Amino acid sequence: MPNENLYTVLSKHFPPAPAAPCLILTDDRIWTYADVERASGRIANLIVALGLKPGDRVAVQVEKSAEALVLYLATLRAGMVFLPLNPAYQRHELEYFLGDAKPGLFVCRPQMRALADEVASKSGVPHVLELNDAGHGSLIDAAASHADTFRTVTRQDNDLAAILYTSGTTGRSKGAMLTHGNLAANAKTLHAYWHFQPGDVLLHMLPIFHVHGLFVACNTTLLNGSAMLWEPRFEAKCAMQLLPRATVMMGVPTYYVRLLLESGFGKETCRNVRLFISGSAPLLKETFDEFRSRTGHTILERYGMTEGGMFASNPYAGERRGGTVGFPLPGTAVRIVGAGGTAVPPGEIGGIQVCGANVFVGYWQMPEKTAEEFTADGFFKTGDMGAWDADGYVVISGRSKDLIITGGLNVYPKEIEEMIDALPGVAESAVIGLPHADFGEAVTAVVVRQRNAAGAALTESGIIAAVKAELANFKVPKHVFIVDNLPRNAMGKVQKNLLRDEYSGK
Ligand code: AMP
Repeated sequence: MPNENLYTVLSKHFPPAPAAPCLILTDDRIWTYADVERASGRIANLIVALGLKPGDRVAVQVEKSAEALVLYLATLRAGMVFLPLNPAYQRHELEYFLGDAKPGLFVCRPQMRALADEVASKSGVPHVLELNDAGHGSLIDAAASHADTFRTVTRQDNDLAAILYTSGTTGRSKGAMLTHGNLAANAKTLHAYWHFQPGDVLLHMLPIFHVHGLFVACNTTLLNGSAMLWEPRFEAKCAMQLLPRATVMMGVPTYYVRLLLESGFGKETCRNVRLFISGSAPLLKETFDEFRSRTGHTILERYGMTEGGMFASNPYAGERRGGTVGFPLPGTAVRIVGAGGTAVPPGEIGGIQVCGANVFVGYWQMPEKTAEEFTADGFFKTGDMGAWDADGYVVISGRSKDLIITGGLNVYPKEIEEMIDALPGVAESAVIGLPHADFGEAVTAVVVRQRNAAGAALTESGIIAAVKAELANFKVPKHVFIVDNLPRNAMGKVQKNLLRDEYSGK
Protein backbone atom coordinates (compact mmCIF):
# COMPACT_ATOMS: atom_id res chain seq x y z
CA MET A 1 0.00 0.00 0.00
CA PRO A 2 1.46 3.41 -0.86
CA ASN A 3 2.26 5.74 2.02
CA GLU A 4 -0.28 8.58 1.91
CA ASN A 5 1.24 10.34 4.91
CA LEU A 6 1.08 14.08 4.09
CA TYR A 7 4.78 14.41 4.90
CA THR A 8 5.61 11.76 2.31
CA VAL A 9 3.42 13.55 -0.24
CA LEU A 10 5.18 16.86 0.47
CA SER A 11 8.70 15.53 0.75
CA LYS A 12 8.57 14.00 -2.72
CA HIS A 13 8.85 17.62 -3.88
CA PHE A 14 11.66 18.68 -1.56
CA PRO A 15 14.55 19.83 -3.76
CA PRO A 16 17.51 17.44 -3.83
CA ALA A 17 20.18 20.18 -3.64
CA PRO A 18 21.54 20.09 -0.07
CA ALA A 19 21.58 23.89 0.24
CA ALA A 20 18.00 24.49 -1.02
CA PRO A 21 16.36 26.91 1.42
CA CYS A 22 13.08 26.11 3.10
CA LEU A 23 12.90 28.87 5.74
CA ILE A 24 14.75 32.18 5.69
CA LEU A 25 14.61 33.73 9.16
CA THR A 26 14.58 37.38 10.23
CA ASP A 27 18.34 37.33 10.85
CA ASP A 28 18.87 35.67 7.43
CA ARG A 29 19.68 32.32 9.00
CA ILE A 30 18.54 29.59 6.63
CA TRP A 31 16.89 26.27 7.31
CA THR A 32 17.52 24.14 4.27
CA TYR A 33 15.15 21.35 3.29
CA ALA A 34 17.85 18.95 4.47
CA ASP A 35 17.87 20.68 7.91
CA VAL A 36 14.09 20.36 8.12
CA GLU A 37 14.24 16.68 7.21
CA ARG A 38 16.88 15.95 9.85
CA ALA A 39 15.32 18.04 12.63
CA SER A 40 11.85 16.58 12.02
CA GLY A 41 13.44 13.11 12.05
CA ARG A 42 14.94 13.75 15.51
CA ILE A 43 11.67 15.01 16.96
CA ALA A 44 9.68 12.17 15.36
CA ASN A 45 12.08 9.69 16.98
CA LEU A 46 11.62 11.46 20.31
CA ILE A 47 7.81 11.38 20.13
CA VAL A 48 7.86 7.66 19.37
CA ALA A 49 10.35 7.05 22.21
CA LEU A 50 7.97 8.80 24.61
CA GLY A 51 5.52 6.01 23.86
CA LEU A 52 2.98 7.85 21.73
CA LYS A 53 1.19 5.72 19.18
CA PRO A 54 -0.15 6.66 15.73
CA GLY A 55 -3.39 8.58 16.18
CA ASP A 56 -2.34 10.08 19.55
CA ARG A 57 -2.63 13.84 19.71
CA VAL A 58 0.32 16.21 20.08
CA ALA A 59 -1.01 19.52 21.43
CA VAL A 60 1.20 22.52 20.79
CA GLN A 61 0.84 26.01 22.25
CA VAL A 62 3.95 27.90 21.18
CA GLU A 63 4.93 31.02 19.28
CA LYS A 64 5.86 30.76 15.64
CA SER A 65 9.45 29.61 15.05
CA ALA A 66 11.25 27.34 12.59
CA GLU A 67 11.22 24.65 15.26
CA ALA A 68 7.46 24.99 15.67
CA LEU A 69 6.98 24.20 11.98
CA VAL A 70 9.41 21.29 12.29
CA LEU A 71 7.34 19.98 15.22
CA TYR A 72 4.26 19.97 12.97
CA LEU A 73 6.14 17.98 10.33
CA ALA A 74 7.62 15.60 12.92
CA THR A 75 4.13 14.91 14.27
CA LEU A 76 2.92 14.03 10.77
CA ARG A 77 5.94 11.82 10.18
CA ALA A 78 5.40 9.91 13.41
CA GLY A 79 1.74 9.34 12.48
CA MET A 80 0.40 11.40 15.40
CA VAL A 81 -2.28 14.09 15.17
CA PHE A 82 -1.14 17.71 15.31
CA LEU A 83 -3.22 20.00 17.51
CA PRO A 84 -2.07 23.62 17.45
CA LEU A 85 -3.41 26.11 19.99
CA ASN A 86 -3.39 29.89 19.97
CA PRO A 87 -0.66 31.07 22.39
CA ALA A 88 -3.14 33.61 23.76
CA TYR A 89 -5.27 30.86 25.36
CA GLN A 90 -5.27 30.83 29.15
CA ARG A 91 -6.34 28.41 31.88
CA HIS A 92 -10.02 28.13 31.02
CA GLU A 93 -9.36 27.38 27.35
CA LEU A 94 -6.46 25.02 28.07
CA GLU A 95 -8.52 23.00 30.50
CA TYR A 96 -11.16 22.55 27.85
CA PHE A 97 -8.81 21.69 24.97
CA LEU A 98 -6.54 19.30 26.87
CA GLY A 99 -9.50 17.70 28.65
CA ASP A 100 -11.33 17.25 25.34
CA ALA A 101 -8.45 16.08 23.12
CA LYS A 102 -6.45 14.14 25.76
CA PRO A 103 -3.12 14.50 23.96
CA GLY A 104 -0.21 12.19 24.65
CA LEU A 105 2.17 15.16 24.62
CA PHE A 106 1.70 18.84 25.28
CA VAL A 107 4.39 21.26 24.09
CA CYS A 108 4.12 24.66 25.78
CA ARG A 109 6.03 27.90 26.21
CA PRO A 110 8.26 27.98 29.31
CA GLN A 111 6.28 30.86 30.81
CA MET A 112 3.17 28.64 30.75
CA ARG A 113 4.91 25.59 32.26
CA ALA A 114 3.42 25.70 35.76
CA LEU A 115 -0.09 26.06 34.40
CA ALA A 116 0.59 23.45 31.71
CA ASP A 117 1.74 20.88 34.31
CA GLU A 118 -1.30 21.53 36.44
CA VAL A 119 -3.79 21.26 33.58
CA ALA A 120 -1.95 18.31 32.02
CA SER A 121 -2.05 16.31 35.23
CA LYS A 122 -5.77 17.07 35.69
CA SER A 123 -6.47 15.97 32.11
CA GLY A 124 -4.26 12.88 32.21
CA VAL A 125 -1.70 14.19 29.67
CA PRO A 126 1.43 12.12 30.34
CA HIS A 127 4.16 14.35 28.85
CA VAL A 128 4.85 18.09 28.84
CA LEU A 129 7.83 19.60 27.04
CA GLU A 130 8.83 23.21 26.35
CA LEU A 131 9.64 25.21 23.26
CA ASN A 132 10.42 28.89 23.73
CA ASP A 133 9.87 31.74 21.28
CA ALA A 134 13.44 31.45 20.01
CA GLY A 135 12.98 27.74 19.22
CA HIS A 136 14.86 26.32 22.22
CA GLY A 137 13.70 24.27 25.18
CA SER A 138 13.36 20.79 26.60
CA LEU A 139 11.71 19.51 23.38
CA ILE A 140 14.80 20.34 21.34
CA ASP A 141 17.21 19.22 24.08
CA ALA A 142 15.47 15.86 24.38
CA ALA A 143 15.39 15.42 20.60
CA ALA A 144 19.13 16.16 20.27
CA SER A 145 20.16 12.67 21.34
CA HIS A 146 17.90 11.00 18.77
CA ALA A 147 18.82 9.93 15.24
CA ASP A 148 18.30 12.29 12.30
CA THR A 149 16.79 9.60 10.18
CA PHE A 150 13.23 8.45 10.60
CA ARG A 151 11.11 6.27 8.40
CA THR A 152 7.87 8.24 8.00
CA VAL A 153 5.01 6.16 9.38
CA THR A 154 2.62 4.84 6.77
CA ARG A 155 -0.76 6.54 6.88
CA GLN A 156 -3.74 6.28 4.59
CA ASP A 157 -5.77 9.14 3.18
CA ASN A 158 -8.48 8.77 5.79
CA ASP A 159 -6.14 8.72 8.83
CA LEU A 160 -6.22 11.83 11.00
CA ALA A 161 -3.38 14.33 10.55
CA ALA A 162 -4.62 17.30 12.57
CA ILE A 163 -7.33 18.62 14.82
CA LEU A 164 -7.91 22.36 14.70
CA TYR A 165 -10.36 23.85 17.14
CA THR A 166 -12.70 26.39 15.61
CA SER A 167 -12.66 29.80 17.22
CA GLY A 168 -15.97 29.05 18.92
CA THR A 169 -17.54 32.48 19.00
CA THR A 170 -20.84 30.80 19.77
CA GLY A 171 -21.05 27.79 22.04
CA ARG A 172 -18.24 25.32 22.62
CA SER A 173 -15.24 25.34 20.38
CA LYS A 174 -15.26 22.26 18.16
CA GLY A 175 -12.24 20.21 17.07
CA ALA A 176 -12.30 19.87 13.27
CA MET A 177 -10.69 16.54 12.33
CA LEU A 178 -8.60 16.76 9.16
CA THR A 179 -7.07 13.73 7.48
CA HIS A 180 -3.83 13.33 5.55
CA GLY A 181 -6.01 13.04 2.44
CA ASN A 182 -7.92 16.27 3.22
CA LEU A 183 -4.71 18.28 3.59
CA ALA A 184 -2.94 16.75 0.62
CA ALA A 185 -5.95 17.34 -1.66
CA ASN A 186 -6.19 21.03 -0.78
CA ALA A 187 -2.44 21.60 -1.03
CA LYS A 188 -2.33 20.06 -4.52
CA THR A 189 -5.33 22.07 -5.70
CA LEU A 190 -3.97 25.40 -4.45
CA HIS A 191 -0.49 24.67 -5.75
CA ALA A 192 -1.88 24.21 -9.25
CA TYR A 193 -4.60 26.90 -9.14
CA TRP A 194 -2.25 29.63 -7.95
CA HIS A 195 0.51 28.56 -10.37
CA PHE A 196 3.19 27.87 -7.79
CA GLN A 197 6.47 27.50 -9.59
CA PRO A 198 10.14 26.74 -8.91
CA GLY A 199 11.92 29.68 -7.32
CA ASP A 200 8.81 31.16 -5.69
CA VAL A 201 9.49 32.86 -2.36
CA LEU A 202 6.52 33.26 -0.01
CA LEU A 203 6.43 36.07 2.52
CA HIS A 204 5.05 34.25 5.57
CA MET A 205 3.91 36.54 8.38
CA LEU A 206 0.77 34.66 9.43
CA PRO A 207 0.41 32.72 12.69
CA ILE A 208 0.74 28.94 12.30
CA PHE A 209 -1.92 27.78 14.76
CA HIS A 210 -4.57 28.43 12.09
CA VAL A 211 -5.55 26.89 8.73
CA HIS A 212 -4.40 29.95 6.77
CA GLY A 213 -0.80 30.18 7.97
CA LEU A 214 -0.24 26.45 8.55
CA PHE A 215 -2.01 24.60 5.76
CA VAL A 216 -2.72 27.11 3.01
CA ALA A 217 0.66 28.84 3.23
CA CYS A 218 3.04 26.11 4.44
CA ASN A 219 1.66 22.95 2.81
CA THR A 220 1.39 24.68 -0.55
CA THR A 221 4.94 26.01 -0.37
CA LEU A 222 6.38 22.72 0.88
CA LEU A 223 4.64 20.94 -1.97
CA ASN A 224 6.44 23.40 -4.23
CA GLY A 225 9.80 22.73 -2.53
CA SER A 226 10.45 26.46 -2.36
CA ALA A 227 11.39 29.01 0.30
CA MET A 228 9.47 31.06 2.85
CA LEU A 229 10.60 34.33 4.39
CA TRP A 230 9.66 33.25 7.90
CA GLU A 231 8.64 36.10 10.19
CA PRO A 232 7.17 35.69 13.67
CA ARG A 233 4.32 38.13 12.98
CA PHE A 234 3.02 40.74 10.57
CA GLU A 235 4.52 44.18 10.80
CA ALA A 236 3.98 46.59 7.90
CA LYS A 237 7.48 48.15 7.87
CA CYS A 238 9.13 44.76 7.99
CA ALA A 239 6.82 43.50 5.21
CA MET A 240 7.89 46.45 3.06
CA GLN A 241 11.54 45.56 3.56
CA LEU A 242 11.00 41.91 2.69
CA LEU A 243 8.55 42.20 -0.19
CA PRO A 244 11.25 42.91 -2.81
CA ARG A 245 12.64 39.44 -1.98
CA ALA A 246 9.23 37.73 -2.30
CA THR A 247 7.18 36.50 -5.23
CA VAL A 248 4.01 35.60 -3.29
CA MET A 249 2.37 37.05 -0.18
CA MET A 250 -0.58 35.61 1.72
CA GLY A 251 -2.37 37.72 4.27
CA VAL A 252 -5.56 38.60 6.04
CA PRO A 253 -7.23 41.83 4.84
CA THR A 254 -5.83 43.83 7.76
CA TYR A 255 -2.28 43.27 6.44
CA TYR A 256 -3.21 44.94 3.14
CA VAL A 257 -4.95 47.80 4.94
CA ARG A 258 -1.83 48.37 7.05
CA LEU A 259 0.50 48.26 4.06
CA LEU A 260 -1.60 50.94 2.37
CA LEU A 261 -1.18 53.16 5.43
CA GLU A 262 2.59 53.24 4.73
CA SER A 263 3.34 56.26 2.59
CA GLY A 264 6.34 54.62 0.88
CA PHE A 265 4.39 51.53 -0.14
CA GLY A 266 3.81 51.18 -3.88
CA LYS A 267 4.92 49.68 -7.18
CA GLU A 268 8.60 49.66 -6.30
CA THR A 269 8.05 47.62 -3.10
CA CYS A 270 6.09 45.00 -5.05
CA ARG A 271 8.35 44.83 -8.10
CA ASN A 272 9.16 41.11 -7.75
CA VAL A 273 5.81 39.90 -6.43
CA ARG A 274 3.65 37.89 -8.81
CA LEU A 275 0.72 37.21 -6.48
CA PHE A 276 -0.98 38.75 -3.43
CA ILE A 277 -3.60 36.51 -1.82
CA SER A 278 -6.15 37.55 0.80
CA GLY A 279 -8.56 35.57 2.93
CA SER A 280 -9.94 34.58 6.34
CA ALA A 281 -12.12 37.70 6.43
CA PRO A 282 -13.78 39.90 3.81
CA LEU A 283 -11.52 42.22 1.86
CA LEU A 284 -13.23 45.58 1.48
CA LYS A 285 -13.76 46.64 -2.12
CA GLU A 286 -12.11 49.93 -1.20
CA THR A 287 -8.91 48.13 -0.11
CA PHE A 288 -8.97 45.99 -3.26
CA ASP A 289 -9.29 49.10 -5.47
CA GLU A 290 -6.71 51.19 -3.63
CA PHE A 291 -4.21 48.34 -3.66
CA ARG A 292 -4.58 48.00 -7.40
CA SER A 293 -4.12 51.69 -8.07
CA ARG A 294 -1.12 51.98 -5.72
CA THR A 295 0.74 48.83 -6.76
CA GLY A 296 -0.69 47.69 -10.09
CA HIS A 297 -1.49 44.34 -8.43
CA THR A 298 -4.97 42.85 -8.21
CA ILE A 299 -5.30 40.99 -4.91
CA LEU A 300 -6.62 37.46 -5.36
CA GLU A 301 -9.30 36.82 -2.75
CA ARG A 302 -10.21 33.29 -1.76
CA TYR A 303 -12.60 31.70 0.73
CA GLY A 304 -12.42 28.74 3.03
CA MET A 305 -12.44 27.66 6.62
CA THR A 306 -10.87 25.39 9.23
CA GLU A 307 -13.28 22.59 8.28
CA GLY A 308 -11.76 21.96 4.86
CA GLY A 309 -9.19 24.51 3.82
CA MET A 310 -10.05 26.47 0.72
CA PHE A 311 -13.35 26.11 -1.15
CA ALA A 312 -13.36 28.98 -3.68
CA SER A 313 -10.84 31.31 -5.23
CA ASN A 314 -10.63 34.11 -7.73
CA PRO A 315 -8.80 32.93 -10.83
CA TYR A 316 -5.07 33.28 -11.38
CA ALA A 317 -5.31 34.23 -15.04
CA GLY A 318 -8.90 35.41 -15.49
CA GLU A 319 -10.64 38.42 -13.97
CA ARG A 320 -10.19 38.76 -10.19
CA ARG A 321 -13.40 40.41 -9.11
CA GLY A 322 -13.34 42.58 -5.98
CA GLY A 323 -16.04 41.86 -3.41
CA THR A 324 -16.22 38.21 -4.54
CA VAL A 325 -14.28 35.08 -3.59
CA GLY A 326 -14.25 33.72 -7.11
CA PHE A 327 -15.21 30.26 -8.33
CA PRO A 328 -15.43 26.86 -6.62
CA LEU A 329 -11.96 25.28 -6.64
CA PRO A 330 -11.40 22.18 -8.76
CA GLY A 331 -12.39 19.16 -6.67
CA THR A 332 -14.71 21.13 -4.38
CA ALA A 333 -18.42 21.24 -5.14
CA VAL A 334 -20.07 24.40 -3.84
CA ARG A 335 -23.84 24.91 -3.75
CA ILE A 336 -25.97 27.69 -2.35
CA VAL A 337 -29.35 26.67 -1.01
CA GLY A 338 -32.48 28.41 0.25
CA ALA A 339 -34.56 27.59 3.30
CA GLY A 340 -36.08 24.46 1.75
CA GLY A 341 -32.68 23.10 0.75
CA THR A 342 -33.11 23.85 -2.98
CA ALA A 343 -30.51 25.70 -5.03
CA VAL A 344 -31.08 29.46 -5.27
CA PRO A 345 -30.82 31.36 -8.58
CA PRO A 346 -27.97 33.85 -9.13
CA GLY A 347 -28.35 37.02 -7.06
CA GLU A 348 -30.34 35.35 -4.31
CA ILE A 349 -28.73 34.75 -0.92
CA GLY A 350 -28.65 31.27 0.57
CA GLY A 351 -26.58 28.98 2.77
CA ILE A 352 -23.25 27.81 1.33
CA GLN A 353 -22.61 24.06 1.32
CA VAL A 354 -19.46 22.27 0.20
CA CYS A 355 -18.30 18.76 -0.61
CA GLY A 356 -14.92 17.44 -1.71
CA ALA A 357 -11.79 15.51 -0.77
CA ASN A 358 -10.60 18.52 1.25
CA VAL A 359 -13.69 18.69 3.49
CA PHE A 360 -13.05 17.49 7.06
CA VAL A 361 -14.38 14.22 8.43
CA GLY A 362 -16.19 15.57 11.50
CA TYR A 363 -15.88 17.22 14.89
CA TRP A 364 -13.79 15.45 17.51
CA GLN A 365 -16.03 13.49 19.86
CA MET A 366 -19.16 15.28 18.67
CA PRO A 367 -20.98 12.79 16.44
CA GLU A 368 -24.36 14.53 16.86
CA LYS A 369 -22.95 17.95 16.01
CA THR A 370 -21.16 16.42 13.00
CA ALA A 371 -24.36 14.77 11.78
CA GLU A 372 -26.24 18.08 12.13
CA GLU A 373 -23.70 19.94 10.01
CA PHE A 374 -23.73 17.53 7.05
CA THR A 375 -26.62 16.99 4.65
CA ALA A 376 -27.89 13.52 3.80
CA ASP A 377 -25.96 13.65 0.51
CA GLY A 378 -22.66 14.50 2.18
CA PHE A 379 -22.41 18.29 1.85
CA PHE A 380 -21.05 20.32 4.79
CA LYS A 381 -23.14 23.31 5.82
CA THR A 382 -20.53 26.01 6.19
CA GLY A 383 -22.73 28.42 8.15
CA ASP A 384 -21.83 31.12 5.64
CA MET A 385 -24.42 32.91 3.54
CA GLY A 386 -23.73 33.96 -0.01
CA ALA A 387 -24.93 34.25 -3.59
CA TRP A 388 -23.70 33.57 -7.11
CA ASP A 389 -23.22 36.66 -9.20
CA ALA A 390 -24.33 36.63 -12.84
CA ASP A 391 -20.97 35.19 -13.95
CA GLY A 392 -20.69 32.44 -11.34
CA TYR A 393 -18.45 34.25 -8.85
CA VAL A 394 -19.36 33.56 -5.21
CA VAL A 395 -20.21 36.60 -3.10
CA ILE A 396 -20.09 36.03 0.68
CA SER A 397 -22.64 37.94 2.68
CA GLY A 398 -21.68 36.85 6.18
CA ARG A 399 -22.22 34.11 8.73
CA SER A 400 -25.78 32.82 9.03
CA LYS A 401 -25.62 33.49 12.76
CA ASP A 402 -25.03 37.18 11.95
CA LEU A 403 -28.22 37.35 9.90
CA ILE A 404 -30.61 39.81 11.55
CA ILE A 405 -34.30 39.02 11.78
CA THR A 406 -36.22 42.17 12.57
CA GLY A 407 -40.02 42.19 12.66
CA GLY A 408 -39.87 38.81 10.90
CA LEU A 409 -37.83 40.16 7.99
CA ASN A 410 -34.31 39.08 7.06
CA VAL A 411 -31.59 41.71 6.99
CA TYR A 412 -28.16 40.84 5.64
CA PRO A 413 -25.64 43.03 7.50
CA LYS A 414 -23.31 43.27 4.50
CA GLU A 415 -25.82 45.23 2.42
CA ILE A 416 -26.03 47.94 5.06
CA GLU A 417 -22.31 47.83 5.86
CA GLU A 418 -21.45 48.46 2.21
CA MET A 419 -23.75 51.45 2.11
CA ILE A 420 -22.35 52.94 5.31
CA ASP A 421 -18.74 52.25 4.27
CA ALA A 422 -19.27 54.36 1.16
CA LEU A 423 -20.21 57.46 3.21
CA PRO A 424 -17.56 60.17 3.52
CA GLY A 425 -15.61 59.88 6.78
CA VAL A 426 -16.37 56.17 7.33
CA ALA A 427 -13.41 53.77 7.53
CA GLU A 428 -15.51 50.63 8.03
CA SER A 429 -18.58 49.37 9.84
CA ALA A 430 -20.20 46.35 11.43
CA VAL A 431 -23.95 45.90 11.47
CA ILE A 432 -25.39 43.64 14.18
CA GLY A 433 -28.78 42.67 15.56
CA LEU A 434 -29.51 43.48 19.18
CA PRO A 435 -32.44 42.10 21.19
CA HIS A 436 -35.49 44.34 20.88
CA ALA A 437 -38.85 43.96 22.63
CA ASP A 438 -40.96 44.80 19.57
CA PHE A 439 -38.90 43.71 16.60
CA GLY A 440 -37.10 40.68 18.02
CA GLU A 441 -33.83 42.20 16.85
CA ALA A 442 -32.97 45.80 16.14
CA VAL A 443 -30.55 46.65 13.34
CA THR A 444 -27.60 48.44 14.92
CA ALA A 445 -24.51 49.86 13.25
CA VAL A 446 -21.07 50.27 14.79
CA VAL A 447 -19.17 52.68 12.57
CA VAL A 448 -15.43 53.37 12.56
CA ARG A 449 -14.66 56.99 11.74
CA GLN A 450 -11.73 57.99 9.54
CA ARG A 451 -9.15 60.10 11.31
CA ASN A 452 -9.91 63.26 9.35
CA ALA A 453 -12.40 66.13 9.30
CA ALA A 454 -15.06 64.06 7.52
CA GLY A 455 -14.67 61.38 10.19
CA ALA A 456 -14.98 63.93 12.99
CA ALA A 457 -18.17 65.27 11.39
CA LEU A 458 -20.00 61.89 11.40
CA THR A 459 -23.19 61.76 13.44
CA GLU A 460 -25.68 59.05 14.28
CA SER A 461 -28.57 60.98 12.73
CA GLY A 462 -26.57 61.75 9.57
CA ILE A 463 -25.75 58.06 9.02
CA ILE A 464 -29.34 56.98 9.70
CA ALA A 465 -30.64 59.58 7.24
CA ALA A 466 -28.18 58.46 4.56
CA VAL A 467 -29.25 54.80 4.84
CA LYS A 468 -32.93 55.78 4.98
CA ALA A 469 -32.60 57.56 1.65
CA GLU A 470 -31.44 54.34 -0.04
CA LEU A 471 -32.92 51.32 1.73
CA ALA A 472 -36.22 49.96 3.01
CA ASN A 473 -37.16 51.22 6.43
CA PHE A 474 -36.77 47.88 8.19
CA LYS A 475 -33.07 47.82 7.22
CA VAL A 476 -32.31 51.25 8.63
CA PRO A 477 -30.27 51.08 11.85
CA LYS A 478 -32.23 51.99 14.96
CA HIS A 479 -28.96 53.05 16.56
CA VAL A 480 -25.49 53.95 15.34
CA PHE A 481 -22.41 53.92 17.54
CA ILE A 482 -19.39 55.80 16.22
CA VAL A 483 -16.05 54.35 17.36
CA ASP A 484 -12.32 54.32 16.54
CA ASN A 485 -11.82 50.56 16.07
CA LEU A 486 -13.66 47.27 15.74
CA PRO A 487 -12.60 44.27 17.85
CA ARG A 488 -10.81 41.70 15.67
CA ASN A 489 -9.35 38.27 16.41
CA ALA A 490 -5.87 37.12 15.42
CA MET A 491 -7.04 36.38 11.88
CA GLY A 492 -8.47 39.85 11.33
CA LYS A 493 -12.11 38.79 11.72
CA VAL A 494 -14.47 41.32 13.26
CA GLN A 495 -15.80 39.79 16.48
CA LYS A 496 -19.49 40.60 16.17
CA ASN A 497 -20.24 38.53 19.26
CA LEU A 498 -18.21 41.03 21.33
CA LEU A 499 -20.05 43.94 19.73
CA ARG A 500 -23.39 42.33 20.52
CA ASP A 501 -22.32 41.90 24.17
CA GLU A 502 -21.01 45.44 24.39
CA TYR A 503 -23.97 47.26 22.86
CA SER A 504 -26.87 45.13 24.14
CA GLY A 505 -29.07 47.26 26.39
CA LYS A 506 -27.29 50.51 25.47
P1 AMP B 1 -11.68 30.02 9.97
O1 AMP B 1 -12.23 28.67 10.18
O2 AMP B 1 -11.14 30.66 11.22
O3 AMP B 1 -10.71 30.06 8.84
O4 AMP B 1 -12.89 30.96 9.55
C1 AMP B 1 -13.60 30.65 8.40
C2 AMP B 1 -14.63 31.71 8.13
O5 AMP B 1 -13.99 32.94 7.76
C3 AMP B 1 -15.50 31.36 6.98
O6 AMP B 1 -16.53 30.46 7.34
C4 AMP B 1 -16.01 32.73 6.56
O7 AMP B 1 -17.07 33.14 7.39
C5 AMP B 1 -14.80 33.62 6.83
N1 AMP B 1 -14.02 33.87 5.62
C6 AMP B 1 -12.92 33.24 5.16
N2 AMP B 1 -12.49 33.79 4.01
C7 AMP B 1 -13.36 34.80 3.73
C8 AMP B 1 -13.46 35.75 2.67
N3 AMP B 1 -12.57 35.80 1.69
N4 AMP B 1 -14.49 36.63 2.72
C9 AMP B 1 -15.40 36.60 3.71
N5 AMP B 1 -15.35 35.74 4.74
C10 AMP B 1 -14.34 34.84 4.75
